[in-house]
Amino acid sequence: MLKKLASLSFLILFMGCKNTPTHPIETLTLEQVQNQINPSETQKILFTLASDSMMGRDSQSGGYFKAAEFVTDYFQANNITPFYPDYQDTLSTKGVKTYNLVGQIGTYDPQKKTILIGAHLDHVGIRGSEGDTIYNGANDNATGSTAVLQVGSFLAQFEWDQNIVLALFADEEKGLRGAYHLAQRFKDENIKPDYMINFEMIGKTLTTGANQVYMTGYNYSNMPEVINTISPNFVQFLSEAKELNLFRRSDNYAFFQELETPAFTLSSFDFKNFDFYHRAGDEAEKMEVENMNQIITTAALTIAKMMYQKTEIQMEPASVEE
Ligand SMILES: [Zn+2]
Repeated sequence: MLKKLASLSFLILFMGCKNTPTHPIETLTLEQVQNQINPSETQKILFTLASDSMMGRDSQSGGYFKAAEFVTDYFQANNITPFYPDYQDTLSTKGVKTYNLVGQIGTYDPQKKTILIGAHLDHVGIRGSEGDTIYNGANDNATGSTAVLQVGSFLAQFEWDQNIVLALFADEEKGLRGAYHLAQRFKDENIKPDYMINFEMIGKTLTTGANQVYMTGYNYSNMPEVINTISPNFVQFLSEAKELNLFRRSDNYAFFQELETPAFTLSSFDFKNFDFYHRAGDEAEKMEVENMNQIITTAALTIAKMMYQKTEIQMEPASVEE
């Protein structure tokens, strides 16, 4: 009888352990994320942002504002709330007003750490007068914008101890103007993201393999190591990125320069896998949506785990090249 009681209490104890709720992120698998971020939704967003009706997403042509409206509706439908009124952070380039779109998950709390996820939404618009004049900018950067929307809506399902800010930048193609505007505004408002992950051109498969990206400024911080510990081989080093100092050529750089935020771009455009960079032929039909969706899925899982683990990202300032 005693023995039986002992084993019964053991059973109850065991069951008690089993029923202890674990945090959903703790046990989250890539497969589970894949069930939520599906390729057809990725394709739908990408094809919308890169469609001819968006006229190359330049503020001058007005196509940018149509894309911005789409993003606003998407944010609203996916529990991503405005960080600034109507999500808009307004700037003006050569007399033309435009705005970054800035959303958040939850409500901003200055006591908490802040993670920034970004991509530029704009492209170069319409050029020339013969043949295809619409520079759709599918790879550059409807793909990265799609990643921010998909990763954002995935993260918005959970409660977080950190602030998550999502930014779609205007006027990147005019000299990172949108990103600089937001970085300077953050500085004025005493907002300093603890790290930033930026997405640029993830529509083609990296030459080294499927479901891989390279990181600009690869050896400037512990971020590649952190990411690859969670998702092995996901982040690569690309020698061209170092030679051309791509670290300084996308929106991430503004946040490093203004705020010393460890800020990096993930990309799969490696100069060998796409011939239409800044050409009218940068169109949605040429994108490899399955691989792109894998990249987005892996990024979503990785960011979720980094946030759950409260990972610290540190720059190694001595390694940053001028
Ligand atoms: Zn770009």
